[in-house]
Amino acid sequence: DSKRAGKLQLSFYNPVMQEQALHSVRLEKELRLALEQQQFFLVYQPVVSLTNGRVEKFEALLRWHQPGQGVQSPGHFIAVAELTGLIVPIGYWVIEAACGFVQRQMQTGRTVKPVAVNLSVCQLREASFAEKVQALLARLKVPPELLELEITESMLMENVDLAMVLIENLKRLGIRISIDDFGTGYSSLSQLRQLPVNALKIDRSFIRELETSPVDQQMVEAITAMVHKLGLRVVAEGIETEQQMWLLRDIGCDHGQGFLFARPLALEQALQYRGHDALRAITGARPGHPCG
Ligand code: C2E
Ligand code: MG
Ligand code: MG
Ligand code: MG
Repeated sequence: DSKRAGKLQLSFYNPVMQEQALHSVRLEKELRLALEQQQFFLVYQPVVSLTNGRVEKFEALLRWHQPGQGVQSPGHFIAVAELTGLIVPIGYWVIEAACGFVQRQMQTGRTVKPVAVNLSVCQLREASFAEKVQALLARLKVPPELLELEITESMLMENVDLAMVLIENLKRLGIRISIDDFGTGYSSLSQLRQLPVNALKIDRSFIRELETSPVDQQMVEAITAMVHKLGLRVVAEGIETEQQMWLLRDIGCDHGQGFLFARPLALEQALQYRGHDALRAITGARPGHPCG
């Protein structure tokens, strides 16, 4: 009967759920320790202009040097950090470290490129988020226009009104905003039109099979045209091949990011990165010449 079936199900699922719960509890403890003991670090992936191959900005990506386990990517720990609220203090650490990267660039004497930081929805829910970021920038003497915050489209849609107010506050401070993973959420044109954002990043899932998928090409063309009408920049994520790069350039995508240009780089390597030679070459820029 149904009672027995229920019991059977419970005894079947319990060990798995228990294992997952234990894993989360362990991970939470380790993440707390990680923050105290400075086990986090950032890597920086360049975003390149598809018109001239130069670096437009860098995206800061979080990594965790988990003792005995090597370097962990966010996929391994972000979910638990979000569930436990630990992403809030970790998130401030990320912004501060990213500002440190901007300061390092300032010391080199070359043109300083903005740095983009990913946000989780719990960070947006903190009422004082914008003021805290403003205070942090002031303390570190980093101009707000050198910081960009990435908010995913699905995060935006979870609470449009809250996101709108927050984006407006951040925007007023001079901080730039971009919409990440675009095309995977369900925002409408009218919602997009109202948002004071700077750029929109087309999700990697549209780029992955671009060469062989006319539908994906049409999607990227449509998104690009629409976003340009709104006066915003378009960034394509996850560019891995030259062919994808040329296609996106022909479509009119402004910027690109992906393994073709560079993997996420350690700070010192990021400071050395000078852009993409083939793109620079066709616009007459001297390949390898420092971008100023
Ligand atoms: P995202 O913001 O969409 O970041 C892009 C992800 O795609 C990064 O993975 C990057 O390494 C990867 N990627 C870049 N180019 C390519 C490519 O050509 N091919 C492929 N296959 N992958 C590429 P990563 O670093 O593992 O980060 C995954 C996600 O974790 C990020 O997606 C972002 O949502 C989140 N995340 C990263 N850092 C932070 C952080 O500091 N705070 C928060 N809240 N989330 C973060
Ligand atoms: Mg991102
Ligand atoms: Mg993304
Ligand atoms: Mg993504």
